[in-house]
Amino acid sequence: MDQAGEFTLQIDLGELVARARQGDREALEAVLATIAPSVRRFGLRMCKNVHDAEDVLQDTLINIANHLGEFEGRSSVSSWVFALTRSACTRKRRGLKNQPPVSDESVAETPDHAPNPEARAADHELASALSRALDGLSDDYREVILLRDIEGLSAPEAASSLGISVDALKSRLHRAREALRGALRPLLEPASEQPPSGCPDVALLWSKKLEGDLSQGDCSAMEKHLATCPACGAACDALKRALLACQRVRTEEVPPDIQARVKAAVRAWAAQTSL
Ligand SMILES: [Zn+2]
Repeated sequence: MDQAGEFTLQIDLGELVARARQGDREALEAVLATIAPSVRRFGLRMCKNVHDAEDVLQDTLINIANHLGEFEGRSSVSSWVFALTRSACTRKRRGLKNQPPVSDESVAETPDHAPNPEARAADHELASALSRALDGLSDDYREVILLRDIEGLSAPEAASSLGISVDALKSRLHRAREALRGALRPLLEPASEQPPSGCPDVALLWSKKLEGDLSQGDCSAMEKHLATCPACGAACDALKRALLACQRVRTEEVPPDIQARVKAAVRAWAAQTSL
C-alpha cells in the first residue's frame, strides 16, 4: 500500500488559485468546489455536530475567497485551507462541550468498493467502526489522522496546518495510529494473541515506514519477522486495514447542498470586492 498515492487537494490547484487571485470568478468557484468536501469532512469530525460543521464550512469558504489574494504560497494550499478550517472549528467549538458524537449515518456512507455483498457489508461495518473510533480519539489524535490519513496531506503539510514541527507531527501521528488500531481491535483483531514479549513494535515500524522513516535494513528485518510471527502479522494487517478505511473516507459521496455553499461564498466574495 502506497500512502503517497492520491492526494485529494493536490490535483493541480496551483493554476486555479493563481487565476482566482486575479479575480477570475469561475476559477474561484472551482477552487472552492475542490476543497469544500475536505473542509466539510474535517469540520464534521472536529465539531461532531452537523449544524456546526455547516457553519464551519461556510465560514471557511468565505474566508478562503476573501483572503486568497493574501495567500503567498509559503505553505501549500492544503496546509493553508486546513489551518483556516481549524481556526473556524476552534471558534465554533469554544464553549461547546460534550457534543453528542456524529451519527454513523452522516459520515460512514461508503461507496461500493468491494466486489460482493459480504465484502461490502464488511466494508460498511469497518467504516462505521472507524467513525466511532475517530469520535473516541482525543482531538489531537483525531486531527492528525484526519489531515494525514484521511485527507492525504503530506507530513510537512499537516505539520504546517497544525503549526508544529514535522518531527512532532510524525510522533503524534504514530501514537494516534496506534490508538486508532487499539480502538478497532475488537473488529480487526478479535481473536489475535498479544505478540510474545521480545517482539518488535511492528505497528509503529509500519507507521514509520509509511512516513519514509524506516531504513532498508530495519524494513527487511520487519518483513522477515512478520512472515514468521502470526501475532505481529495480525497487528500489522489491522493497521493497514484501518488506514485503508481512512483513505476510503475521502471517496464518500459529497452532499448535494455543498455546491450551494460554494456559490454562496462566491457571491459573498463578489459583493465584497465590488464595494
Ligand atoms: Zn512478533
